[in-house]
Amino acid sequence: MRKILFTLSLILACSAMSMGWGFYGHKVIQQLSVYALPKDMQAFYHRHMKYLVDAAVRPDERRNTDSAEAVRHFIDVDYFGPNAVNEMPESWAAASAKYPVDTLTKYGLVPWHVVVMQQRLTRAFQQKSVDSILFYSADLGHYIQDAHVPLHTTLNYDGQLTDQHGLHSLWESKLPEQNLPGYSLKHKQAQYLANPEHAIWEVVRGSHKELPNLLALEKQVTKQFTDQTKFVVTERNGRTRKNYSDAFAKAYQEALGPMVEQRMQAAAHMTASFWFTCWVDGGRPNLKNLLATPYTKAQAKQFKQERKAWKKGQLQKKDLLLTKGR
Ligand SMILES: [Zn+2]
Repeated sequence: MRKILFTLSLILACSAMSMGWGFYGHKVIQQLSVYALPKDMQAFYHRHMKYLVDAAVRPDERRNTDSAEAVRHFIDVDYFGPNAVNEMPESWAAASAKYPVDTLTKYGLVPWHVVVMQQRLTRAFQQKSVDSILFYSADLGHYIQDAHVPLHTTLNYDGQLTDQHGLHSLWESKLPEQNLPGYSLKHKQAQYLANPEHAIWEVVRGSHKELPNLLALEKQVTKQFTDQTKFVVTERNGRTRKNYSDAFAKAYQEALGPMVEQRMQAAAHMTASFWFTCWVDGGRPNLKNLLATPYTKAQAKQFKQERKAWKKGQLQKKDLLLTKGR
Protein backbone atom coordinates (compact mmCIF):
# COMPACT_ATOMS: atom_id res chain seq x y z
CA MET A 1 0.00 0.00 0.00
CA ARG A 2 2.76 2.41 0.95
CA LYS A 3 4.52 1.66 -2.28
CA ILE A 4 1.37 2.31 -4.24
CA LEU A 5 0.85 5.61 -2.45
CA PHE A 6 4.46 6.58 -3.06
CA THR A 7 4.17 5.82 -6.76
CA LEU A 8 0.87 7.67 -6.97
CA SER A 9 2.21 10.81 -5.35
CA LEU A 10 5.21 10.69 -7.67
CA ILE A 11 2.98 10.50 -10.69
CA LEU A 12 0.80 13.31 -9.41
CA ALA A 13 3.76 15.53 -8.77
CA CYS A 14 5.19 14.82 -12.21
CA SER A 15 2.03 15.39 -14.16
CA ALA A 16 0.89 18.59 -12.49
CA MET A 17 -1.65 20.14 -14.82
CA SER A 18 -0.22 22.33 -17.54
CA MET A 19 0.17 26.03 -16.90
CA GLY A 20 1.35 27.23 -20.31
CA TRP A 21 4.70 29.01 -20.20
CA GLY A 22 4.61 29.09 -16.41
CA PHE A 23 3.92 32.41 -14.71
CA TYR A 24 7.34 33.78 -15.55
CA GLY A 25 7.17 33.06 -19.28
CA HIS A 26 3.70 34.54 -19.70
CA LYS A 27 4.70 37.74 -17.94
CA VAL A 28 7.86 38.18 -19.99
CA ILE A 29 6.06 37.54 -23.29
CA GLN A 30 3.28 39.97 -22.38
CA GLN A 31 5.84 42.73 -21.75
CA LEU A 32 7.72 41.98 -25.00
CA SER A 33 4.48 42.27 -26.96
CA VAL A 34 4.10 45.92 -25.94
CA TYR A 35 7.37 46.85 -27.67
CA ALA A 36 6.21 45.46 -31.01
CA LEU A 37 3.16 47.70 -31.26
CA PRO A 38 2.88 50.58 -33.77
CA LYS A 39 3.33 54.15 -32.61
CA ASP A 40 -0.37 54.96 -32.16
CA MET A 41 -0.74 52.16 -29.60
CA GLN A 42 2.50 52.54 -27.68
CA ALA A 43 1.64 55.15 -25.06
CA PHE A 44 -1.57 53.42 -23.97
CA TYR A 45 -0.04 49.96 -23.72
CA HIS A 46 3.12 51.23 -22.07
CA ARG A 47 1.15 53.16 -19.46
CA HIS A 48 -0.73 49.97 -18.62
CA MET A 49 2.17 47.57 -19.08
CA LYS A 50 2.37 46.56 -15.42
CA TYR A 51 -1.31 45.68 -15.38
CA LEU A 52 -0.94 43.63 -18.57
CA VAL A 53 2.08 41.79 -17.19
CA ASP A 54 0.41 41.06 -13.85
CA ALA A 55 -2.81 39.93 -15.54
CA ALA A 56 -0.94 37.72 -18.02
CA VAL A 57 -1.46 34.76 -15.70
CA ARG A 58 -5.04 35.52 -14.64
CA PRO A 59 -6.61 32.89 -16.94
CA ASP A 60 -4.47 30.21 -15.27
CA GLU A 61 -5.53 31.43 -11.82
CA ARG A 62 -9.15 31.42 -12.92
CA ARG A 63 -8.97 27.66 -13.41
CA ASN A 64 -9.12 27.25 -9.64
CA THR A 65 -12.58 28.80 -9.48
CA ASP A 66 -14.10 28.18 -12.92
CA SER A 67 -14.48 24.60 -14.13
CA ALA A 68 -15.08 25.78 -17.71
CA GLU A 69 -11.68 27.47 -17.86
CA ALA A 70 -9.14 24.65 -18.25
CA VAL A 71 -10.18 23.58 -21.76
CA ARG A 72 -9.56 27.07 -23.14
CA HIS A 73 -5.79 26.67 -22.77
CA PHE A 74 -5.00 23.76 -25.09
CA ILE A 75 -6.14 21.60 -27.97
CA ASP A 76 -5.27 17.88 -27.98
CA VAL A 77 -5.65 17.97 -31.71
CA ASP A 78 -4.12 14.53 -32.34
CA TYR A 79 -7.16 12.94 -30.67
CA PHE A 80 -8.98 13.66 -33.94
CA GLY A 81 -6.47 11.72 -36.05
CA PRO A 82 -2.79 11.74 -37.00
CA ASN A 83 -3.21 14.57 -39.52
CA ALA A 84 -6.02 16.40 -37.74
CA VAL A 85 -3.90 19.49 -37.18
CA ASN A 86 -4.09 20.06 -40.95
CA GLU A 87 -7.59 18.75 -41.47
CA MET A 88 -9.59 20.25 -38.61
CA PRO A 89 -12.04 22.90 -39.85
CA GLU A 90 -10.72 26.24 -38.65
CA SER A 91 -14.02 27.94 -37.89
CA TRP A 92 -16.03 26.93 -34.85
CA ALA A 93 -19.17 26.66 -37.01
CA ALA A 94 -17.54 24.12 -39.32
CA ALA A 95 -15.72 22.22 -36.56
CA SER A 96 -18.87 21.90 -34.46
CA ALA A 97 -20.79 20.72 -37.51
CA LYS A 98 -18.23 17.94 -37.99
CA TYR A 99 -17.70 16.89 -34.33
CA PRO A 100 -19.96 16.89 -31.25
CA VAL A 101 -19.47 20.01 -29.14
CA ASP A 102 -18.84 17.86 -26.04
CA THR A 103 -15.94 16.14 -27.78
CA LEU A 104 -14.43 19.37 -29.06
CA THR A 105 -14.73 20.89 -25.60
CA LYS A 106 -13.17 17.90 -23.88
CA TYR A 107 -10.07 17.97 -26.09
CA GLY A 108 -9.57 21.69 -25.87
CA LEU A 109 -10.71 24.97 -27.36
CA VAL A 110 -7.69 27.23 -27.49
CA PRO A 111 -7.81 28.36 -31.17
CA TRP A 112 -11.54 29.02 -31.02
CA HIS A 113 -11.32 30.76 -27.68
CA VAL A 114 -8.65 33.07 -29.10
CA VAL A 115 -11.16 34.09 -31.77
CA VAL A 116 -13.82 34.76 -29.11
CA MET A 117 -11.35 36.95 -27.19
CA GLN A 118 -10.30 38.71 -30.40
CA GLN A 119 -13.93 39.62 -31.12
CA ARG A 120 -14.44 40.91 -27.58
CA LEU A 121 -11.30 43.03 -27.73
CA THR A 122 -12.37 44.47 -31.10
CA ARG A 123 -15.72 45.42 -29.56
CA ALA A 124 -13.95 46.99 -26.56
CA PHE A 125 -11.99 49.23 -28.96
CA GLN A 126 -15.20 50.16 -30.80
CA GLN A 127 -16.76 51.12 -27.47
CA LYS A 128 -13.57 52.88 -26.32
CA SER A 129 -13.91 51.09 -22.99
CA VAL A 130 -10.54 51.30 -21.24
CA ASP A 131 -11.45 48.65 -18.69
CA SER A 132 -12.52 46.13 -21.34
CA ILE A 133 -9.59 46.92 -23.66
CA LEU A 134 -7.18 46.09 -20.87
CA PHE A 135 -9.06 43.06 -19.63
CA TYR A 136 -9.36 41.41 -23.05
CA SER A 137 -5.85 42.40 -24.15
CA ALA A 138 -4.45 40.54 -21.14
CA ASP A 139 -6.64 37.47 -21.57
CA LEU A 140 -6.22 37.27 -25.34
CA GLY A 141 -2.45 37.44 -24.92
CA HIS A 142 -2.49 34.53 -22.50
CA TYR A 143 -4.38 32.16 -24.79
CA ILE A 144 -2.29 33.10 -27.84
CA GLN A 145 0.84 32.37 -25.79
CA ASP A 146 -0.50 28.99 -24.67
CA ALA A 147 -1.11 28.03 -28.30
CA HIS A 148 2.63 28.50 -28.92
CA VAL A 149 3.55 25.70 -26.50
CA PRO A 150 3.92 22.42 -28.43
CA LEU A 151 2.74 20.34 -25.45
CA HIS A 152 -0.53 22.30 -25.48
CA THR A 153 -1.44 20.68 -28.79
CA THR A 154 -1.31 16.98 -27.96
CA LEU A 155 -2.87 14.17 -25.92
CA ASN A 156 0.67 13.43 -24.74
CA TYR A 157 0.72 16.82 -23.03
CA ASP A 158 3.06 15.84 -20.23
CA GLY A 159 5.03 13.13 -22.00
CA GLN A 160 2.89 10.74 -19.96
CA LEU A 161 2.21 8.46 -22.96
CA THR A 162 5.91 8.07 -23.76
CA ASP A 163 7.28 7.67 -20.22
CA GLN A 164 8.46 11.28 -20.07
CA HIS A 165 6.39 12.53 -17.14
CA GLY A 166 7.09 16.11 -16.15
CA LEU A 167 8.19 17.16 -19.61
CA HIS A 168 5.50 19.84 -19.73
CA SER A 169 6.79 22.01 -16.93
CA LEU A 170 10.39 21.28 -17.90
CA TRP A 171 9.84 22.68 -21.38
CA GLU A 172 7.57 25.62 -20.64
CA SER A 173 8.70 26.70 -17.14
CA LYS A 174 12.09 25.39 -16.13
CA LEU A 175 13.82 26.00 -19.47
CA PRO A 176 12.73 29.65 -19.86
CA GLU A 177 13.45 30.38 -16.18
CA GLN A 178 16.90 28.81 -16.37
CA ASN A 179 17.92 30.15 -19.76
CA LEU A 180 16.19 33.47 -20.32
CA PRO A 181 19.36 35.56 -19.83
CA GLY A 182 20.79 33.83 -22.90
CA TYR A 183 17.70 34.25 -25.08
CA SER A 184 17.33 37.02 -27.62
CA LEU A 185 13.99 38.57 -26.79
CA LYS A 186 13.77 40.56 -29.98
CA HIS A 187 11.01 39.75 -32.42
CA LYS A 188 9.14 41.15 -35.39
CA GLN A 189 6.82 44.17 -35.30
CA ALA A 190 3.08 43.63 -35.05
CA GLN A 191 1.42 42.79 -38.35
CA TYR A 192 -2.20 43.21 -39.34
CA LEU A 193 -3.88 39.80 -39.54
CA ALA A 194 -6.34 39.68 -42.44
CA ASN A 195 -7.59 36.31 -41.19
CA PRO A 196 -7.05 35.94 -37.41
CA GLU A 197 -8.77 32.55 -37.30
CA HIS A 198 -6.32 31.17 -39.84
CA ALA A 199 -3.43 32.89 -38.07
CA ILE A 200 -4.09 31.14 -34.76
CA TRP A 201 -4.42 27.78 -36.52
CA GLU A 202 -1.06 28.41 -38.15
CA VAL A 203 0.29 28.92 -34.61
CA VAL A 204 -1.20 25.58 -33.49
CA ARG A 205 0.30 23.85 -36.54
CA GLY A 206 3.68 25.46 -35.85
CA SER A 207 3.58 24.23 -32.25
CA HIS A 208 2.46 20.74 -33.19
CA LYS A 209 5.24 20.39 -35.75
CA GLU A 210 7.85 20.69 -32.97
CA LEU A 211 6.50 17.74 -30.98
CA PRO A 212 8.37 14.80 -32.56
CA ASN A 213 11.68 16.61 -32.09
CA LEU A 214 10.86 17.79 -28.58
CA LEU A 215 10.03 14.22 -27.45
CA ALA A 216 12.89 12.51 -29.30
CA LEU A 217 15.53 14.88 -27.94
CA GLU A 218 14.45 14.19 -24.36
CA LYS A 219 15.01 10.46 -25.01
CA GLN A 220 18.34 11.16 -26.64
CA VAL A 221 19.60 13.34 -23.77
CA THR A 222 18.37 10.76 -21.24
CA LYS A 223 21.04 8.36 -22.53
CA GLN A 224 23.70 10.60 -20.95
CA PHE A 225 22.02 10.43 -17.50
CA THR A 226 21.16 7.90 -14.84
CA ASP A 227 17.88 8.02 -12.95
CA GLN A 228 19.78 9.61 -10.07
CA THR A 229 21.30 12.40 -12.17
CA LYS A 230 18.26 12.97 -14.37
CA PHE A 231 15.84 13.67 -11.53
CA VAL A 232 15.78 15.43 -8.19
CA VAL A 233 13.49 13.88 -5.62
CA THR A 234 12.26 16.18 -2.86
CA GLU A 235 9.75 15.78 -0.09
CA ARG A 236 7.45 18.64 0.87
CA ASN A 237 4.56 18.38 3.31
CA GLY A 238 4.61 14.60 3.13
CA ARG A 239 4.53 14.57 -0.67
CA THR A 240 7.35 13.23 -2.74
CA ARG A 241 8.14 15.21 -5.85
CA LYS A 242 10.26 14.04 -8.72
CA ASN A 243 11.47 16.76 -11.04
CA TYR A 244 14.02 17.03 -13.79
CA SER A 245 17.42 18.11 -12.45
CA ASP A 246 19.10 21.38 -13.42
CA ALA A 247 21.86 19.41 -15.15
CA PHE A 248 19.34 17.54 -17.27
CA ALA A 249 17.51 20.78 -18.11
CA LYS A 250 20.79 22.31 -19.24
CA ALA A 251 21.65 19.39 -21.50
CA TYR A 252 18.11 19.33 -22.89
CA GLN A 253 18.21 23.06 -23.62
CA GLU A 254 21.43 22.57 -25.56
CA ALA A 255 19.90 19.74 -27.55
CA LEU A 256 16.76 21.77 -28.34
CA GLY A 257 18.80 24.74 -29.55
CA PRO A 258 16.64 27.81 -30.09
CA MET A 259 13.25 26.02 -29.96
CA VAL A 260 11.94 27.54 -26.70
CA GLU A 261 13.36 30.97 -27.48
CA GLN A 262 11.77 30.98 -30.92
CA ARG A 263 8.36 29.95 -29.59
CA MET A 264 8.58 32.82 -27.06
CA GLN A 265 9.52 35.31 -29.76
CA ALA A 266 6.72 34.08 -32.00
CA ALA A 267 4.24 34.29 -29.10
CA ALA A 268 5.15 37.93 -28.42
CA HIS A 269 4.94 38.81 -32.11
CA MET A 270 1.54 37.16 -32.43
CA THR A 271 0.17 38.73 -29.22
CA ALA A 272 1.12 42.17 -30.53
CA SER A 273 -0.32 41.35 -33.97
CA PHE A 274 -3.68 40.36 -32.47
CA TRP A 275 -3.83 43.51 -30.31
CA PHE A 276 -3.00 45.61 -33.37
CA THR A 277 -5.58 43.83 -35.54
CA CYS A 278 -8.32 44.33 -32.93
CA TRP A 279 -7.47 48.02 -32.68
CA VAL A 280 -7.62 48.47 -36.48
CA ASP A 281 -10.85 46.48 -36.78
CA GLY A 282 -12.24 48.43 -33.82
CA GLY A 283 -11.96 51.65 -35.83
CA ARG A 284 -8.48 52.79 -34.72
CA PRO A 285 -9.69 54.82 -31.70
CA ASN A 286 -7.28 57.47 -30.48
CA LEU A 287 -5.80 55.69 -27.48
CA LYS A 288 -4.02 58.75 -26.12
CA ASN A 289 -7.45 60.27 -25.50
CA LEU A 290 -8.30 57.26 -23.35
CA LEU A 291 -5.48 57.86 -20.88
CA ALA A 292 -6.65 59.20 -17.51
CA THR A 293 -3.71 61.64 -17.43
CA PRO A 294 -1.53 62.74 -20.38
CA TYR A 295 1.45 60.63 -21.32
CA THR A 296 4.42 62.66 -20.09
CA LYS A 297 7.69 63.38 -21.87
CA ALA A 298 9.51 61.42 -19.17
CA GLN A 299 7.31 58.39 -19.83
CA ALA A 300 7.87 58.67 -23.58
CA LYS A 301 11.60 58.82 -22.97
CA GLN A 302 11.46 55.79 -20.70
CA PHE A 303 9.54 53.85 -23.34
CA LYS A 304 12.07 54.82 -25.99
CA GLN A 305 14.88 53.48 -23.83
CA GLU A 306 13.09 50.22 -23.14
CA ARG A 307 12.23 49.74 -26.79
CA LYS A 308 15.81 50.39 -27.79
CA ALA A 309 17.01 47.82 -25.25
CA TRP A 310 14.44 45.33 -26.59
CA LYS A 311 15.67 45.88 -30.15
CA LYS A 312 19.22 45.21 -29.04
CA GLY A 313 18.21 42.18 -26.97
CA GLN A 314 19.35 43.93 -23.78
CA LEU A 315 16.18 44.03 -21.67
CA GLN A 316 17.54 41.47 -19.21
CA LYS A 317 21.00 42.95 -19.13
CA LYS A 318 19.63 46.41 -18.34
CA ASP A 319 17.25 44.99 -15.75
CA LEU A 320 14.20 46.29 -17.60
CA LEU A 321 12.00 43.21 -17.35
CA LEU A 322 9.15 43.84 -14.91
CA THR A 323 9.17 40.24 -13.73
CA LYS A 324 12.37 38.93 -12.25
CA GLY A 325 11.87 35.18 -12.45
CA ARG A 326 12.93 32.86 -9.67
ZN1 LIG B 1 -2.82 28.85 -19.74
